[in-house]
Amino acid sequence: SQLIDQIAAGEVVERPASVAKELIENSLDAGAGRIDIDVEQGGIKRLRVRDDGHGIPAAELSLALSRHATSKIVELSDLEGVASLGFRGEALPSIASVSRLTLTSRVRGADLAWQVQNDGAADFDQPRPVAHPDGTTVEIRDLFFNVPARRKFLRTAKTELGHLEQVARCFALAQPGIALSLTHQGRVLFDLPAATDAAAIRQRLADLLGSGFVEQALEIDEQAGDLSLRGWVVRPAFSRSQGDRQFFFVNGRLVRDRLVAHAVRQAFKDVLHHGRHPAYLLHLAIPPAWVDVNVHPAKQEVRFRDGRQVHDFLNRALSRRLAEGAA
Ligand code: ADP
Ligand code: MG
Repeated sequence: SQLIDQIAAGEVVERPASVAKELIENSLDAGAGRIDIDVEQGGIKRLRVRDDGHGIPAAELSLALSRHATSKIVELSDLEGVASLGFRGEALPSIASVSRLTLTSRVRGADLAWQVQNDGAADFDQPRPVAHPDGTTVEIRDLFFNVPARRKFLRTAKTELGHLEQVARCFALAQPGIALSLTHQGRVLFDLPAATDAAAIRQRLADLLGSGFVEQALEIDEQAGDLSLRGWVVRPAFSRSQGDRQFFFVNGRLVRDRLVAHAVRQAFKDVLHHGRHPAYLLHLAIPPAWVDVNVHPAKQEVRFRDGRQVHDFLNRALSRRLAEGAA
């Protein structure tokens, strides 16, 4: 029902940035090579995410807006090994219940694109044919127009845009191989080409984190059994407050986790004798069955099956590299 969707929306949809996060994840799950984000008024008035992914067949468009209709899990046992970013089938119906949503998609190679619209109501019209390139566009207008109590909590367009930029930056760092742009009120804030070699990846890092980060960063590339850790760390001696330059991804998903934070801080402490303000961008790859991402719909938390193993791996890998770099 619409009410249930609106309640679920309370979990998933807090502000334009959280809508953007869900839509970008869907684009990535659809195998997009390019994602364009275009917003007005910090995303409050309009937020559009377009991708060149595999698209949604016309017959499944309305289903995509229905609760728990995910195409990504076939059986409950699949939950054990979730590799896609989304799997609950909650995001689109939740967002649709608190906004005016237009979903347009053309399956790769199909003749026509199809579109459905939904104005926060429980049901929607039949899909109609429209012109649109291969891939999917989700456009959200007037977020919370029908939930004044939630709308009241939105901040200024500038603040909302700031959150949105942070989300976009995060995905741009997580997925350097994907072209990504962000446009606000017709002004291009960034337009990053797909970075496919080391030099291009460094350029993207410099664009997003500053050239200082790239110049001072130690590269990490460690592996132990099924765990691998790749990325960059900047020794705190060179950096000031770096709260906005701490990125840790688990299988491509941004994570804020105490165990991870502790392992990283501890490595800096052990080697450099203080763990204040490190900057880092790290990717942990771990078999999906060893990590539970099903903790909370906002999905920034994870639970590792063997937290001690992960903690020790991170700590050892970072300590070794920091010790080399310090020598
Ligand atoms: P989930 O991502 O958890 O499956 P969502 O509500 O986010 O649920 O999306 C519902 C379904 O709509 C997805 O399972 C997928 O089949 C389809 N979908 C949504 N966005 C896209 C997209 N950009 N490209 C292709 N399919 C999409
Ligand atoms: Mg999703």
